[in-house]
Amino acid sequence: MKIATLNRGKESKYHNQYPLIDEEDIYAQDHLKEGDLFKLVDGKEQYVATAYVGRQHKGLGWVLSYDPSEDINTAFFKRLFEKALEEREYYYHIDGTNAFRLFNAEGDGVGGLTIDNYDGHLLIQWYSKGIYKFRYHILEAIKTVFKYQSIYEKMRFKDTEYTGGFVEGEQQAFPIVIEENFTFYNVDLDDGLMTGIFLDQKEVRKKLRDQFSEGRHLLNVFSYTGAFSVVSANKAKSTTSVDLANRSRGLTEENFGLNAIDPKSQYIYVMDTFDYYNYAKRHGHQYDTIVIDPPSFARNKKKTFSVQKDYDKLINGALEVLSPKGTLLLCTNSSVFSLKAFKNVIKTTLDEAEVDYEINEVMGLPKDFKTHPHYKPSKYLKAIFVNIEH
Ligand code: SAH
Repeated sequence: MKIATLNRGKESKYHNQYPLIDEEDIYAQDHLKEGDLFKLVDGKEQYVATAYVGRQHKGLGWVLSYDPSEDINTAFFKRLFEKALEEREYYYHIDGTNAFRLFNAEGDGVGGLTIDNYDGHLLIQWYSKGIYKFRYHILEAIKTVFKYQSIYEKMRFKDTEYTGGFVEGEQQAFPIVIEENFTFYNVDLDDGLMTGIFLDQKEVRKKLRDQFSEGRHLLNVFSYTGAFSVVSANKAKSTTSVDLANRSRGLTEENFGLNAIDPKSQYIYVMDTFDYYNYAKRHGHQYDTIVIDPPSFARNKKKTFSVQKDYDKLINGALEVLSPKGTLLLCTNSSVFSLKAFKNVIKTTLDEAEVDYEINEVMGLPKDFKTHPHYKPSKYLKAIFVNIEH
């Protein structure tokens, strides 16, 4: 097996189980290619860990094992999948939900690999060329450990023309319908990078429905397939979904339809969020709950948007159309935008706007999105409910 030697002083970081290998911590290495297994050793050639090369998040690759005699083969992945499944057993038995994450990358022991269960249809996501080189072993292990009707895959790394598709089982006609907390959503496992629903937000959607929808006018910007609107619609006085992409209108209407809500009774705008804020203000529209769940980066004809740089503008725009007593649900899934920095932006923006506010709850990932205790970026999701009076 190839070897990479750590710089002096860097051993303790990896002895303490930091899972992502920083190339700058490496003093010397054999020529390492994507998918290579290698032993990480200290300056005295003492074994520290076994890792694979899969470039991601500016890292060289991920640690797989701390046992020098452990082989990385089908049995290795099988053991990890069995453990992950045991920890998800609970999710197979809750009423009203049939979609959840089965295996969450470094949180479950293999950075760069996730497996989701959409009502018996599995989606494997490969985040680097390196992890894809283990496809044979990983698939063999998946087939023996998990129950499934079909398996699909998506490539989340750039240097490939093949973006994913059908792998095993019975090929499906999409969309299929999944259920989450008694609400139904369309899912397509074979259409671009997104599936129709972001499973990591399930507890946030539930809280929005249970505590911040009753009798309220709800505005949902960056609404995509309208999940936050759909979950609220039965309780809310109205929902308004705003997304720049044309496809969002049809997808949102279909999701309303699945839940016996007449899509014509709800508002859907294909529009830039900032343009919508201006439009709503001009028309005197006000909302009691405003959901902001943007992508980390976006580019449209006129400008680029980045959550770290521009979140204050999203909040200020929302304040212009928020009822005197209202709630903002502020989300980001950017792993480089820390909870501390995000809270700071929220506080500074609201202080400068001179409104009274109280953070009601700070939410993160649900249990099935198991995170790594020594790797902070794995807790990428932040969703903050803020009550505001102004
Ligand atoms: N909040 C969604 C997920 C958002 S995905 C959910 O709960 O499922 C990001 C979405 O932002 C995409 O659908 C994209 O079309 C939309 N988007 C990107 N830039 C935008 C802009 N400037 N204004 C409105 N929507 C935008």
